Amino acid sequence: MIIVLERGATESQLDGVLREASLQGRSASVTRSKGATLVRLDGPGDLGERMRGLPGVRATMVGNRSYVLASREFQQADTLVRVGDVVFGGTRAVLIAGPCSVESREQVFAVARAVKASGAHMLRGGAFKPRTSPWSFQGMGEEGLKLLAEVSKETGLPVVTEVMSPDQVDLVGSYADMLQIGSRSIQNFPLLRAAGRSGKPILLKRGMATEIDEFLGAADYILAEGNPNVVLCERGIRTFDTATRFTLDVVSIPVLERLTHLPVIADPSHATGVAHLVAPAARAAIAAGADGLLIETHPDPREALCDGRQALTMAELDAMMGPIRAIAAAIGRSI
Ligand code: PEP
Ligand code: MN
Repeated sequence: MIIVLERGATESQLDGVLREASLQGRSASVTRSKGATLVRLDGPGDLGERMRGLPGVRATMVGNRSYVLASREFQQADTLVRVGDVVFGGTRAVLIAGPCSVESREQVFAVARAVKASGAHMLRGGAFKPRTSPWSFQGMGEEGLKLLAEVSKETGLPVVTEVMSPDQVDLVGSYADMLQIGSRSIQNFPLLRAAGRSGKPILLKRGMATEIDEFLGAADYILAEGNPNVVLCERGIRTFDTATRFTLDVVSIPVLERLTHLPVIADPSHATGVAHLVAPAARAAIAAGADGLLIETHPDPREALCDGRQALTMAELDAMMGPIRAIAAAIGRSI
């Protein structure tokens, strides 16, 4: 079992826990991180009640699991993640919209103005793109980051953009308000740690074959660096069916809500891969309790350099929002 100490627990409180473990005939190992100090006890049985009574003990957990800090046992209250004035995890769901990748000044400014008018709270756009083929468009790199920062300043929309490697974290973090860790990077542990150390809000996307336990384990890598600002994103998992690009695991949203205090948003664009399925998937995600949506939008999806099939036109995004607002209201929320 795992015993998690309070952040400010003293050495003598830790000694008290270790003494009690030894009295109970259990061997213990201690792991310290910026996020918390953990004591792991070998052997079967739950000494939770006894241990929770000791000074400095915050929570105890049993069972094989990859995450501690992301769990509801560690923190019952919902975490609110702030990006500028935008808050993830409150009653108001957050709309993030924008192109898959930043392609030009004209494109990113046109999209930003339009999505803002449709009610988006944040702008997205990739500058470093994880592409399946090395021969596909790889993104505009730092040029793209500069455009995002510029358009953010003009519109007041905070921006989120992907970071693919630990050595990009400082660069991307100097332009973006929130760092996205993409599906393909969910188990890039050095990247997760570097993102945690950056202190920036992190948008962590579920991998296409990531179990919920692994997803929360990845979140713990960031939290363990003392960065509490993690937003999870369900973006579809790979199943046998090829009618859609991925399969939106809509039930992962309430599953996560029970297991973790972190906000959870949904990405119906990558989950479906087809523009006409984005609105119904988005409606389902909001109905299931998602704390926000990430929607890909492009001025002319047929000309998009990346993910054009799933991109909504700005008019389609606008039209989608009416029913989404009604669904949010039906469950006591807004967007
Ligand atoms: C993206 O957001 O454009 C992206 C590449 O997403 P994912 O990592 O979910 O595939
Ligand atoms: Mn994309």
